[in-house]
Parts: sequence; structure tokens; C-alpha cells
Amino acid sequence: MAKMVCVGCGFVYDEEQGRKEENIAAGTKWDNVPEDWCCPVSGDPKELFEPLENSVWLARGGVGSIHSEASELQGETKKIMEDRAKKIKETGSS
Ligand SMILES: [Zn+2]
Repeated sequence: MAKMVCVGCGFVYDEEQGRKEENIAAGTKWDNVPEDWCCPVSGDPKELFEPLENSVWLARGGVGSIHSEASELQGETKKIMEDRAKKIKETGSS
């Protein structure tokens, strides 16, 4: 199950949890989220979401603090983010 992060505000869509507020069932794959679905926080479209694990935006610090939906992000995800940030720092921007 993937997580997608909104580069507009840091909101995280978790496939595992879906978005019951918008009638998106738990377990709904990102690809199956309606194309007209927008970030419930900032209103940004799906195109502005990045895979959390590969988010360059987040690795660069994102918006400084991410929303409560992502507050459980710890351990492995945090490590991925840190590794990513380190890699970007080493290689510079591309
Ligand atoms: Zn957003």
C-alpha cells in the first residue's frame, strides 16, 4: 500500500486508509482515486501528489511541518526521507 503526498501542503493520502470523508474506501489504490479528486486541505489536484517514498519535495523539507494525517510517519518512512535528503544533498539537484 502506497502513500501519496501533496506537494501543495504536505497532506498524505494513504491507500490503506482511503478517505472516508470523500467516500474513497480504505484500500483504494491511488490509480483508482477519481481524477477529479483534490487535496482536501489545499485543493491541489492529483497531479501535484508525489509518492511519499520518492518525494523530492518532502526530502527537501516540504512545507516544514506536515499535517496531522502524516503524524504517524516514523521509523522506516522517516528513514527513507532522510536517506533521500542525503542523496539529494550529495548529488545536488537534477
Ligand atoms: Zn494539499
